[in-house]
Amino acid sequence: MNTTETSKLIDGKALAARVLEQAAAKVETIKSHTGVTPALATVLVGEDPASATYVKMKVKRCEAAGMKSIRVDMPKQTTTEQLVSQVTALGEDPDVAGILLQHPVPDQIDERAAFEAIPRHKDVDGVTATGLGCMFLGIPTFGSCTPAGIMTLLHEYGVTIKGAEAVVIGRSPILGKPMAAMLLEEHATVTICHSRTVDLADVVRRADIIVAAVGRPEFVKGDWVKEGAVVIDAGYNPGNVGDVDFEAALPRASLITPVPGGVGPMTIATLIDNTANAAAEQLGVEL
Ligand code: NAP
Repeated sequence: MNTTETSKLIDGKALAARVLEQAAAKVETIKSHTGVTPALATVLVGEDPASATYVKMKVKRCEAAGMKSIRVDMPKQTTTEQLVSQVTALGEDPDVAGILLQHPVPDQIDERAAFEAIPRHKDVDGVTATGLGCMFLGIPTFGSCTPAGIMTLLHEYGVTIKGAEAVVIGRSPILGKPMAAMLLEEHATVTICHSRTVDLADVVRRADIIVAAVGRPEFVKGDWVKEGAVVIDAGYNPGNVGDVDFEAALPRASLITPVPGGVGPMTIATLIDNTANAAAEQLGVEL
């Protein structure tokens, strides 16, 4: 990579480290005002190795920020009722500031029912219907961590969002949809694409900001990227490969997130920061 290309890289790892430092300072303030150590509860159902790794990373960052981590591991045959009752108990526990239910959950579970058991004030991953609804209405709430982390990256790198043509590829409730809502809230003209989109490449070519959230390795080709576009690759596929053909997109992009080291670290940092903010809100501490 030459110097020009290196200068196009969005360093999510560095920004995430700063966000985590700020979250740690918030935790210190909360502790000194109340004597309470904020806690994040993580719930993992089953033994999916990727999910287990994500939870481990979240626990580690949570503890590094000075927070308590309450880890709940449930067997893969857990029923919807059992999971809902566990999440409800965490929701009622005054020692828990935020709840993260790692998804996907095993097929027999009604994931939506489990998410809805999280009270809104502890929904630090922005997964409940109320949290998502607030996001769409522009009512302050804890934003879904991956799109909220992407917004922080765009702000940090001075990307013009107002009036920009933004194309989000993917419409999942945890990523594509809230991403589109957040970009729209900041006055981008947003198009959401999905598996039934016709002439996808042509739609993407219009974009000043591309967010790829597809879950398919190197799905977005270099010639789909308009000269000067900002390329955000939220994808994370086996072998540390994103959803964008990075090598082909790099010469045309003005800014681009690498995989790994782009969006991923910001997701966890946002979760930790959201939890610190949730604790402050619950304990009446002004940060
Ligand atoms: P998902 O629920 O599987 O959604 C994928 C989306 O991509 C769907 O909306 C789907 O469209 C769309 N899609 C699939 N094939 C397509 C095609 N051929 N053309 C256009 N659109 C297509 O995935 P997700 O949970 O949103 O995750 C997306 C990616 O982000 C994955 O790589 C995941 O690992 C990554 N991710 C990263 C983080 C992080 O922290 N970095 C966090 C979460 C997810 P339909 O709706 O029509 O099926």
